[in-house]
Order: sequence, then structure tokens, then C-alpha cells
Amino acid sequence: MPAYLEILRRHGFTFDKAKGQNFLVAPGVCPRMAAAGAAAGVLEIGPGAGALTRELAKSSQKVVAVELDKRLLPVLDETLAGLDNVTIIPGDILALDLPALLKEQFAGMPVSVCANLPYYITSPVLMRLLELRLPLSRITVMVQKEAAQRLCAPMGTRACGAVTAVVEYFTEAKQLFPVSRSSFVPPPKVDSAVIQLTLRDAPAVAVADEAAFFRLVRAAFGQRRKTLANAVSAGLSLEKSRVQEALARAGIPQTARAEELTLQNFAALFEQLGTDAEKSSSNNRTPSDTKAV
Ligand code: SAM
Repeated sequence: MPAYLEILRRHGFTFDKAKGQNFLVAPGVCPRMAAAGAAAGVLEIGPGAGALTRELAKSSQKVVAVELDKRLLPVLDETLAGLDNVTIIPGDILALDLPALLKEQFAGMPVSVCANLPYYITSPVLMRLLELRLPLSRITVMVQKEAAQRLCAPMGTRACGAVTAVVEYFTEAKQLFPVSRSSFVPPPKVDSAVIQLTLRDAPAVAVADEAAFFRLVRAAFGQRRKTLANAVSAGLSLEKSRVQEALARAGIPQTARAEELTLQNFAALFEQLGTDAEKSSSNNRTPSDTKAV
């Protein structure tokens, strides 16, 4: 195994906090993640110095890793030397054309994502991977412990948020194992956990307009302390009485808050709001709830 820290030092590399650079150094964590996340084709986000990439390359046919920080490219050249099934793509995972990238790089191969995510973009990355409906089998990622709890929480419980609804809509989520902050250099302020999202063949609920459905969910959680009637009417610029009528028809108490609803409740409310919800404009397109889990 390459001496990653020594190689980084030799390249004059300094960690950039703004890019979420906490690199895994504890032995055992990368092999364990790779064992859970390996697939024929693997897309890795943020290979850093290549510790996880190297493990993934051992058990996968092809690994494609997208790295934002160009300073890491010569480091990766060195740490991944001799591995002919790894391709590094310089770029921003939030800006690249991912459907085209998957098609070009994996040509029909079953593909999964495995990554120690840069924590500042956990939620946007996961939302992008899911909402683009990429042909993925599984997403195995390290995230902050609190994010893991939120992403894997059952809907209808206090820990859930708008991201939970999107995750449950597209996937079955589970927490795999915790990872202590001391496993990283530099150590982050919080502990982490590895989670796995297994993509469903079909969404968990059927809705007429997916984008409008997620706008409703985000509006509801955008002001999660308010009742649904208030949060949804404010967030979607709808008359409160229309929302109250829809709640009654969907069999949801007028006093309910977003965190009390199952995904099926949300689908029923969306159906009862009908064209009101589909035409509405959201004031809460990126509430803090989905910007950062
Ligand atoms: N995989 C390495 C490991 O486990 O040691 C590094 C993980 S570190 C938490 C996150 C990595 O993501 C860093 O290498 C960082 O430069 C990279 N990164 C940050 N923002 C990114 C983005 N928007 N697109 C691609 N990579 C990004």
C-alpha cells in the first residue's frame, strides 16, 4: 500500500478544508468500504490520494473517479501507477454531464457509486445522482453520522427530512458501519458512517409529476416547525384553505407537521392537491434541509 501521507507531503500538498478534504488513513476502512461497494463498474467521487480507489480497483472491473482538485492529479498518477482499470476524470461532480459520462465510460456495464463524499456537498451530490435517474445499482457512501441518520431514517420520524423522502422514493437505505473521526487526516469535527442506497426498480410511490411532488416535500420540510397547511401554502404560494381541504381529503390531520408523514401520506396529499401542486411555484426550492443534511 502506498504511503499516502508521505507522497502527499512530497508533492507539497496542503489540505483544502473548503473542498471537504479529509483523507482516510485508518487501515481497514477502505477495504471494508470497497467490499461493500464493489461492482463491475464503479464511479468514485473525490478519490483524494487514491486510498479507496486502489481498493475498489482490486475488486471491480473498472473504476472511474472524478476529482475536483487538480493538485491531486500528479499524486494519483503516482499512487495508482500500474492499475490499468482506473480512469481519473478531472472535474466537478455537480457540473459534469453524468448520463454521458456513464455511457462513455461504462458502456452498458452495471455501475455503482462508492465514495467518501466531500461533506459540504453530500446532499446535492446524492440528490443529483438520484434525480438524474442514472442507471445505478447501488450507492455506497461515507457521510457525516448525522447525515447518515437523516438519510436512512424512516419517514414519519423526527430524524427525517426532505432528503429522506427523495432517498426513500428512489432507494432502500441502510447504515452499514460507523467510522470514527480519528480515521481521517485531518480529522473532521464529527464522526462518520457508511451508508448504502440500493436503487429500486420503480419508485416507492406513484406520482403524476415527480418534480412537482419533490417541490411539495421540500416546501413541507422547508418550514418543518410549522403545520403542513402553513408550510405548504407558504412554500408553494397556495391558498391555505386549498391545502387544508387537500389534507382532509387525504386523511391527514390538520395539525400534522412534515416529519409525521409517511411517503405514502405525501403521495396522497400530492394527489389531492392535484393541479394546484403541479402548477405552483416553490419559494423553497433549496431549503437548508436539502442543501446540507
Ligand atoms: N477518497 C479520498 C479518501 O477517502 O481518502 C478523499 C475523500 S475527501 C472526503 C473528498 C474528496 O472529494 C477530495 O479529494 C476533494 O478534493 C474531492 N472533491 C471535493 N469537491 C468535489 C467535487 N465537487 N467534485 C469532485 N470531487 C470533489
